[in-house]
This record gives sequence, C-alpha cells and structure tokens, in this order.
Amino acid sequence: MNVEQTIIDNYRCSKCGNTDCHVREVAMSGTGLSKIFDIEHNHFLFVSCTHCGIVEVYDPDVLRGHKSGTLGTIMDILFGG
Ligand SMILES: [Zn+2]
Repeated sequence: MNVEQTIIDNYRCSKCGNTDCHVREVAMSGTGLSKIFDIEHNHFLFVSCTHCGIVEVYDPDVLRGHKSGTLGTIMDILFGG
C-alpha cells in the first residue's frame, strides 16, 4: 500500500477542484515532549495543490494503519469520491 500514490490518484483540491498535486513526506525533528519520550522524528505528508497552492497535511501512520479498502473509503470522504 503506497499512501502517497493513493492520495495522488484520488486527489481533488477542496478549494479549486484541481486534481493534480504534489505529495512530500516531511520528517520533523521532535521537540519538547517527543524528545523526552525519545521520538526523534514525526513524519507528515504535505499535499499541495499544483493550481492554487493550498496545502493539506496528513499523518501517514494513520493512513497506513487502515486496510486498503478502508483507505479508499477515507479518500472518498477526503476528496469527495
Ligand atoms: Zn487548488
């Protein structure tokens, strides 16, 4: 299951309706509490619309935690099918 590709395949901008996007997985160094708990990196998926530039952020661990069929349903909800 490739979450990035699934997002690209299903993407529809909530603002302008464009269906092209860039997906980047970004790792952020932990600060504060996450350092205490020895969590070095938090990963996020930054999805940006190539038309209007709006950026949405997803937690890839949550998306990957779903079965493939369920992930499709989530994409339907996120992007309106
Ligand atoms: Zn857009």
